Amino acid sequence: MRRDATFIAVEIDDALAADAELARRLTEACPVDIFAQADDGSLQIVEQNLDECVLCRLCLDASPPGALRIVKLYDDGAVLA
Ligand code: SF4
Repeated sequence: MRRDATFIAVEIDDALAADAELARRLTEACPVDIFAQADDGSLQIVEQNLDECVLCRLCLDASPPGALRIVKLYDDGAVLA
């Protein structure tokens, strides 16, 4: 799954997006509500909040290594590490 806004895109493997525990962790971690949990527990990316990303990396810390990519569209697609 990938969602793009003007400055930020978020990309996550579809299988991991279906993981309710990971969805819960991401929803709790992000200070600007970029992640939410659907009724079935799966991850949702809240497109209208994407450009509020403060590059805090809390979502990366809450995810398995390499599972999630925060793409800085304003910086030639550089990935937040
Ligand atoms: S880097 Fe921070 S603000 Fe951006 S999506 Fe991850 S948790 Fe949210």
